[in-house]
Amino acid sequence: MSFDYDLFVIGGGSGGVRAARVAAGETGAKVALAEEDRYGGTCVIRGCVPKKLMVFASEFAPMVEDAQSFGWDIQPGSFDWGSFKVKLHAELDRLEGVYRNILKNNGVESFDQRARIVDPHTVELADGTRMTARHILIATGGRPVVPDFPGSDLAITSNDIFHLETLPDSILIVGGGYIACEFAGILNGLGVQVTQFYRGAQILRGFDDEARGLVCEEMCQNGIDVHLGTNIIEMKREGDKIRVKATNGSEMLVDQVMYATGRAPNADELGLEALGIERGRKGEILVDEYSQTGVPSIYAIGDVTDRVNLTPVAIREGMAFVDTVFRGKPTPVDHELIPTAIFTQPEMGTVGLSEEEAAEQESIEIYATSFKPMQQSFAGRSQRVLMKLIVSKATHKVLGCHIVAPGAGEMIQLAGIAVKMGATKEDFDRTVAVHPTMSEELVTMRQPVRSA
Ligand code: NDP
Repeated sequence: MSFDYDLFVIGGGSGGVRAARVAAGETGAKVALAEEDRYGGTCVIRGCVPKKLMVFASEFAPMVEDAQSFGWDIQPGSFDWGSFKVKLHAELDRLEGVYRNILKNNGVESFDQRARIVDPHTVELADGTRMTARHILIATGGRPVVPDFPGSDLAITSNDIFHLETLPDSILIVGGGYIACEFAGILNGLGVQVTQFYRGAQILRGFDDEARGLVCEEMCQNGIDVHLGTNIIEMKREGDKIRVKATNGSEMLVDQVMYATGRAPNADELGLEALGIERGRKGEILVDEYSQTGVPSIYAIGDVTDRVNLTPVAIREGMAFVDTVFRGKPTPVDHELIPTAIFTQPEMGTVGLSEEEAAEQESIEIYATSFKPMQQSFAGRSQRVLMKLIVSKATHKVLGCHIVAPGAGEMIQLAGIAVKMGATKEDFDRTVAVHPTMSEELVTMRQPVRSA
């Protein structure tokens, strides 16, 4: 049977674009891709990239203060959201162009339309055009969700932050995950009065307790008003402000409320039900280790499968899909020991097991040190950093590495290589320290602080 294409990709985000361009450019497959919104997807257009640029923007105020401590005669000025926003969106436009060109230069035909699947080998575009493909790859990502409660329509999400006309004077951020904590830091740094509500006992659930405790403490030190065990009951418009009623009995008036309470997979209205493609509790598409759905010609990668919702993981899944389907090299996706960073202030970088997870599995030793780094200490700041290794008592393997420090994202990428290779504590010990740095502590901790 002949098809219009070897591969039809639905979704032009990081995962879909990578799979499309590698299949077309490196294996010679005939590939098409449909995207209803902007090319680049969440990461490039409304996630990692604009978020990181906002992190950079937000870090200048304390830098100017620190510079004064280092002898510079400079004064912090004020932040101009309007001019930053123009540059930010120009950069996103540029990157979207890069993504479009990557597809074009690799011979991928792209359609700026929504697509749905009609049968195991047929895709229908919004304008009714039908096309056939030997394989279909769903890479439609996810979207933020706001829970339903009185006044919930007044909430904005991370999608809206990049488009605000003006920066609010005050904002309430709800949630304790990556997005809530990162934006609390960003907006606080840009001069917005930030309150954060988290329903549980400590933010960043699932990460190492000591590390998330320190992040929370530093966020509070930086001026973020964090309320743990707190949620919103009701919101009402009051003039140009929002009145919020909280579960702790308090009421407050804020300019904006941002919900960062999780994301849902974009798997609706793709035609999956009629095809019998199974979905999980959150609506995610269920796939096997090769990203294959129950329909053999249809695969899914990235956030729509809700495995590990990170850009580099979606890209890996896309590459593994191409190896499996177009290079005859069945490649399961390796989701073990994924290093990750949370761009809070200070950042947290982490790979492997938390102390709590590791202690459940086996006997461990904990090596940890928390100290004031040289640069911040000289500038008169009380900020502390944390370097922590979780080590197996039996094998001496480093099971987890957790860093809370400025630049932790950069550090954990490198520590992640060692941990992924199965490095032992002795391997860390025989590596000579790079002095004077913060991360040298990772190779100079001689005595465990405790066992578990
Ligand atoms: P997360 O799932 O990480 O966090 C959601 C937060 O909202 C949790 O604290 C959760 O609480 C809370 N929550 C959930 N439902 C409710 C509710 N009904 N009322 C109040 N609070 C609620 O989602 P995010 O949106 O922060 O991020 C989504 C994913 O995006 C992340 O998991 C991550 O994979 C990815 N991401 C990665 C980044 C990076 O690599 N730096 C940056 C941004 C996002 P509880 O803990 O109690 O469940």
